[in-house]
Amino acid sequence: MTDNQDPVERMATARHEFGEHGGVNMSIEASTTFTVMEADTLPALFQGEKGPSQGGCYLYGRHFNPTVYNLGQQLAALEGTDAGYCTASGMSAISSTLIQLCQPGDEIIAAHSIYGGTFALLNDLLPAKNHIKTHFVDITDIKAVKAAITTKTKVIYAETLSNPTLRVAPIPLLAKLAQQHKLTLVIDNTFSPLIINPINLGADIVLHSLTKFINGASDIIAGAICASQDFILDMMDLRQGTLMLLGPTMDPEVAFRISMRLPHLPLRIKEHSQRARFIANKLTENGIKVNYPGLPTHPDHQLFKEIANPEYGFGGILTLDMGTETRANELMNCLQNEHQFGYMAVSLGYFDTLMSCSGSSTSSELSDEDKQKAGISPGLIRLAIGYTGSAEQRWQQLYSALKKIDALKE
Ligand SMILES: *Cc1c(COP(=O)(O)O)cnc(C)c1O
Repeated sequence: MTDNQDPVERMATARHEFGEHGGVNMSIEASTTFTVMEADTLPALFQGEKGPSQGGCYLYGRHFNPTVYNLGQQLAALEGTDAGYCTASGMSAISSTLIQLCQPGDEIIAAHSIYGGTFALLNDLLPAKNHIKTHFVDITDIKAVKAAITTKTKVIYAETLSNPTLRVAPIPLLAKLAQQHKLTLVIDNTFSPLIINPINLGADIVLHSLTKFINGASDIIAGAICASQDFILDMMDLRQGTLMLLGPTMDPEVAFRISMRLPHLPLRIKEHSQRARFIANKLTENGIKVNYPGLPTHPDHQLFKEIANPEYGFGGILTLDMGTETRANELMNCLQNEHQFGYMAVSLGYFDTLMSCSGSSTSSELSDEDKQKAGISPGLIRLAIGYTGSAEQRWQQLYSALKKIDALKE
């Protein structure tokens, strides 16, 4: 962890690489293998000594290469960790981190409302293949989290803002609990980069799907692990490291493209937040029940305000409950096909609005009972609000669609 608490200032400092011909952008290093100037350097590299983070050189592209390393440094700066590692997807960041942290027989405590892929990893794959068991709890209930701790627990896992229910993880309390019981607190911060800094609040490891807000154009699948230097080096160990041996590293061209979008991440996040808040307020004024952390009626509004960086708002995602899946589909059909309000598609952080019915899409890995526990009703629509068009134009489109399907009270 660094002393500077401002993620944007840290990122500006980390972005110091010139291209090889003095270009203002860093060059893309396409090599998968790197030469050494002295023959005895190669054995040292294989011993985990003399790597780039130790003032030495690069070895082989599956570790990482200079372009990928540079993006990792910028993401470490974003989250305020010593090191960052870029992966081929958010899921590979999550799976390789958890497999690195847990031995067979160990246990994880996780929020019951999380991304569907992560839920399946914890609920199905890890117990079946690795004998790692997860207790799912209401992560906002610190007593329930505490009660789930056993002698086998190694990790507490949560999303800063839960998908799709948008509950806020009480990270300072979870961090305290983790410290008391010597557990590792792992936070998926995909929904709230810049808005909330889990490391400043005491988390140990922050994971990202870069596919969403950080990339911002829905054209790249990628992920990142922001952690201590020691943990990243462990993960790169030649015999026991999940990064080295499961091999989820990022392609350098992908790393370059993502690094081109990081400088305007702060602007984009502010605009997403502002647009989402505008829509949430308009819906509320018109008697539509909306779930958005920026509204005083949201159960975690106060906590959000206490732990967030206020200049980035309350995030770009909101949900509305249309009661039934049929009604939800009616609204989304109308919004996409009659008003061009947005797209019926999963994912988030795109410049256009994306909308999906969570229960039958991104949370379909959960059983009906698990969905009910997590608060995901069949008519729940997740709206990842974009910033194309004007705010007023988008509201008029939404208003017309709601009127058409008779959702507005006169
Ligand atoms: C999308 C998402 C993931 C998975 O990321 P991929 O890049 O699709 O592998 C993990 N966590 C959250 C919160 C997500 O939204």
